[in-house]
Amino acid sequence: MNNCIFCKIAKKEIPADILIDDVDFLVFKDINPKAPVHFLIIPKKHLGSVDALTLQDLEIIGKLILKAKSVAELSGVSKSGYRLIFNIGKDAGVEVNHLHLHFLAGKPLNFNF
Ligand code: AMP
Ligand code: ZN
Repeated sequence: MNNCIFCKIAKKEIPADILIDDVDFLVFKDINPKAPVHFLIIPKKHLGSVDALTLQDLEIIGKLILKAKSVAELSGVSKSGYRLIFNIGKDAGVEVNHLHLHFLAGKPLNFNF
């Protein structure tokens, strides 16, 4: 995707504060954090959103969610807890149309984002 900001981050064309850089996935800090710990977990391959997924994406989406467990361990919040969020579409306030899983932690989390 030519104009996708997360593709550009995945290709290191624009900078990000990276926690995990795997072959298939990247984890980096959200530039506008909504919690003391706020990472975005993305596949390096461009996928639009959960709404664009098919059965062919099962492996990538499974691994994406498992990656959150690694993020929890690395950021020391496995015991205190964390929240994972996929935003889909207009009413969820989507800003970036590259599949991403929000990882939020570091305080008791309410639902007023
Ligand atoms: P969403 O509303 O689910 O589309 O969330 C997109 C998220 O990406 C927002 O929380 C933004 O703060 C974050 N974001 C946008 N641009 C960047 C960037 N260049 N680096 C890190 N996070 C970003
Ligand atoms: Zn993309």
